[in-house]
Amino acid sequence: MSDVMKYEHFIDGSWVPGESHEMMDVINPANQEVVAQVPKGTKGDVDKAVGSARAAFESGVWSAKSVEERAQILFRAAAMCMGNKDKLCHLESITSGATIRRTTNADVAMLYMALSGTAATACNLPKVEHATMLPLPMHSYWKREPLGVCAGITPWNFPLILAILKIAPALAMGNSIVIKPASCTPVTTLELAKILFDAGVPAGVFNVVTGLGSSAGNDLAQHPQVDKVAFTGSTEVGRQIAHLAADTVKRVTLELGGKSPLIILDDADMETATKMSMLAFMAHQGQICVSGTRLFVPRRMQDELISRMKAKISKMVIGDQMDPKTDMGPITNAGQLETIKRYIEIGKKEGAEIVYGGKQLTDGSLKNGFFHEPTIFANCKNTMTHVKEEIFGPVQCIIPYDDLDEAIAMANDTIYGLASGVCSTNISKAEYVASKIHAGNVYINTYHVIRPDAPFGGFKQSGIGREGSYLSLYAYSEVKHVCANLTPVVDLFGMLGL
Ligand code: NAP
Ligand code: MG
Repeated sequence: MSDVMKYEHFIDGSWVPGESHEMMDVINPANQEVVAQVPKGTKGDVDKAVGSARAAFESGVWSAKSVEERAQILFRAAAMCMGNKDKLCHLESITSGATIRRTTNADVAMLYMALSGTAATACNLPKVEHATMLPLPMHSYWKREPLGVCAGITPWNFPLILAILKIAPALAMGNSIVIKPASCTPVTTLELAKILFDAGVPAGVFNVVTGLGSSAGNDLAQHPQVDKVAFTGSTEVGRQIAHLAADTVKRVTLELGGKSPLIILDDADMETATKMSMLAFMAHQGQICVSGTRLFVPRRMQDELISRMKAKISKMVIGDQMDPKTDMGPITNAGQLETIKRYIEIGKKEGAEIVYGGKQLTDGSLKNGFFHEPTIFANCKNTMTHVKEEIFGPVQCIIPYDDLDEAIAMANDTIYGLASGVCSTNISKAEYVASKIHAGNVYINTYHVIRPDAPFGGFKQSGIGREGSYLSLYAYSEVKHVCANLTPVVDLFGMLGL
């Protein structure tokens, strides 16, 4: 316990102890050892952070800077993230269970691209746009202004990436922001606060309050001084956030759950189909909102696909996420492990057949961690509970099909619409299927590509709005139309005959 790191909130450019002095443990999900402690934030802490964000915003210390000046600071922050990458990757992996191989190869690059790319995109937005339709001598133009104080509430699966996809556009557009990270993975967001501050983001512009969603998160989502809430997490909490935000008509972006379909077409290359089917449900132990976990396979191909997946999975390394050889680490928290086990029991009861895995892993060095076998259910029906509902774990559900239109109809028969995949050697056919799927993202012959330069978000109950690309900059700004008459005639349309 001696090297347990102790953190405080990051408010107004300083480390600030929690008002209640109560702390929460942050553990390594591979062995349940405590790695850090963070404050259990209260309403008073949230008020302090929002107050400092509001004061910084009103002072113009950031909001009145030119977008180029802000971008310079964000470019510096991106470079400093690279300079601190070993520490960031270590902390991200040890708290979230992400393999160190992934955080080192992917997460840090995403962090860099999101910060620097979003800043560059903001510089390239038109500063003003002009109206031209009415044949009247007016100077009628519009420009984008920051919203004010934004709140970000983030989940535990990709703590850094999901925070930066909110922070980068919020800051690039001149807002202040307060982030409440997930209780089990708050540490890297706190480290990011320090980096942003050291890079030159002024005190109060970026704040982090740790604490429980049900208290600190709730207080933040309904705070009267907050203008926008950006949330990533479950659909259930997303609905609550939308309700909480409605009273003061806050802007809301929601990135919620999914149960994404992956359709293998009958002309698919079996090796590509195998890799895609595995990547879709096994990356980060299946704890990804876009995971492809309803696998529609031509009936005649089901057995071969299963045997190819089994051959590959049995060679994979499941264990300590901090070892670069590890392919799959632990489930991020005990609650999620229980959810996975519960859904596997439901699947069995409803008559789906387990052809691989199905159990928690408790042998040897895994005994104190939250490890679970990759699990494949064959011969599922799209209507089964474990197939319909989001599990958020390494559980693949194969639904054999006989007719492609039927498969597409089943793929769309869901409350969700976040992502989807199509595997085919015929790109025209794959793009036809892509056009028929009701989802915000379609991956063809790949999976899990989240790019900061492309829009990311869901149809239906998977969310509202988009992160990534210039669209995310729109989501952190208001449009102001200024209409200046260039003639002495005030009543231009003669409405009052003036
Ligand atoms: P969650 O409850 O939706 O939590 C996401 C974030 O919201 C966390 O920071 C959480 O804080 C906070 N929160 C919880 N209740 C809140 C409330 N009433 N008001 C304001 N903030 C609140 O997600 P979870 O419990 O960690 O995971 C449950 C399920 O969410 C998963 O099984 C999965 O289906 C889904 N999920 C989706 C994504 C995604 O990327 N779309 C990511 C993670 C989880 P605490 O951490 O303190 O609870
Ligand atoms: Mg929850």
